[in-house]
Amino acid sequence: MLQLQRASQRNAARRLRIAGAQLTRWQASRGLATDSEPYDAVIIGGGPGGYVAAIKAAQNGLKTACIEKRGALGGTCLNVGCIPSKAMLNNSHIYHQTQHDLQRRGIDISGVSLNLPQMLKAKQDSVTGLTKGVEHLFRQNKVDYIKGTASFVSPTKISVKLNDGGETEVDAKNVIIATGSEVTPFPGGGIEIDEEQIVSSTGALDLQKVPEKLVVIGGGVIGLELGSVWSRLGSQVTVVEFMGSIGGAGIDEEISKQFQKTLTKQGIKFQLNTKVLSAEKKDGKVYIKTEAAKGGKEDTLEADVVLVAVGRRPYTEGLNIEKAGVELDSKGRVVIDDQFNTSVKGIKCIGDVTFGPMLAHKAEEEEQELKAAGVQYKVGKFPFAANSRAKTNLDTDGQVKFLVEKETDRILGVHIIGPNAGEMIAEAVLAIEYGASSEDIARTTHAHPTLSEAFKEAAMAAYDRPIHF
Ligand SMILES: Cc1cc2nc3c(=O)[nH]c(=O)nc-3n(C[C@H](O)[C@H](O)[C@H](O)COP(=O)(O)OP(=O)(O)OC[C@H]3O[C@@H](n4cnc5c(N)ncnc54)[C@H](O)[C@@H]3O)c2cc1C
Repeated sequence: MLQLQRASQRNAARRLRIAGAQLTRWQASRGLATDSEPYDAVIIGGGPGGYVAAIKAAQNGLKTACIEKRGALGGTCLNVGCIPSKAMLNNSHIYHQTQHDLQRRGIDISGVSLNLPQMLKAKQDSVTGLTKGVEHLFRQNKVDYIKGTASFVSPTKISVKLNDGGETEVDAKNVIIATGSEVTPFPGGGIEIDEEQIVSSTGALDLQKVPEKLVVIGGGVIGLELGSVWSRLGSQVTVVEFMGSIGGAGIDEEISKQFQKTLTKQGIKFQLNTKVLSAEKKDGKVYIKTEAAKGGKEDTLEADVVLVAVGRRPYTEGLNIEKAGVELDSKGRVVIDDQFNTSVKGIKCIGDVTFGPMLAHKAEEEEQELKAAGVQYKVGKFPFAANSRAKTNLDTDGQVKFLVEKETDRILGVHIIGPNAGEMIAEAVLAIEYGASSEDIARTTHAHPTLSEAFKEAAMAAYDRPIHF
């Protein structure tokens, strides 16, 4: 009996040695560091925070691995965020414009119809092309891509549950946590997301049928973006928002009002200062109970699909972060200093999982914040309705708005609502980064006729007076 036990112990030990040797060969065959050679940098999460950090680390000569569990690189942004949402936004805009805008431009067409499966495929093709592109960049820069779920064993050892089965461990001299964020569930529970009738942003990017009635819970950027996609494709959209304005926390009040006006013109209905109490599925519909935010008047809305878009929260589930000893704050965010160092030496953290706006880029100072901080500032505005190119393009809604320091004329912030805002804002970011004044912009040539002249004119309005308004 004793001999049998010893034999089985020996066999178990041999199996472990064989497994260990196979793992080392597997690691070596993929160019991964083995137990004896730790990585200089291991990045957990392959989103825009993590994959960019991994490429940069490898470019700087560090032996680098990036661990990603999704099965595709690019994180929320490329897979279920910025990229698929912009694909849907752009193509739904073209559809809507074709239906409602071409005639006044002298283009008569007929027989326009929506091919939703093809629109969804076009979106997926962009996503796949870009995620594969990041994989190619990893190969090109010699970043080891480990497909699996990472969890800390210690601050320098990470265990990975591989997507293909099995487990491995990697040693790291330095770690970057870039595990991103996840959809915040409806507060207090009671509204379960099934990603078909009650969807998060992920489900809303992949609805297989245009819902006749869509109710969006939450008037922040994600809810409004996806609400406007389905509104353009034919849904009757109602946005229910607890606060008295749309666009989320921190948006400039004037811009928020203008945004709401534009969306209302496009057909979206708003119920502001309204609290959602519950959502119940019945006979193929969803019934959403609401009441006035201050309490009192109750109402029920009927919808075919409900989008719950009440925010996102930092994601560290399964990471065993306590084994690393990394400090989290009360909101579950990883605590960092201004150099992205966590409370543990050798472990840094970036992106949605730590402080700051949950965007792939950073937002700028807000007018209300300036007021609260007692900063003396001036405002310069220019409407697209007075810009020649916007007029030529029949696309005149919106404005450019500068906030500049009164004494120095230094640009503090810029808001743009209107055509090509997402491209034009880069000029403001550059100006702020280099400490430019509104006079600097006002004295810079902007090609004519372009929308960017509205940018220059708003700077002129802040510095002195605009020419064309
Ligand atoms: C619908 C929508 C639209 C958006 N539009 C915009 C926009 O227009 N502009 C903009 O700037 N931002 C936009 N965002 C926000 C943007 O997507 C995020 O700010 C950005 O993706 C954050 O990057 P990140 O690298 O921090 O995290 P993520 O992109 O979330 O990546 C983190 C990755 O880590 C992986 N991971 C987590 N835990 C582990 C683990 N234990 N092991 C291995 N891997 C793990 C996850 O699978 C994920 O892929 C949008 C978001 C949504 C939902």
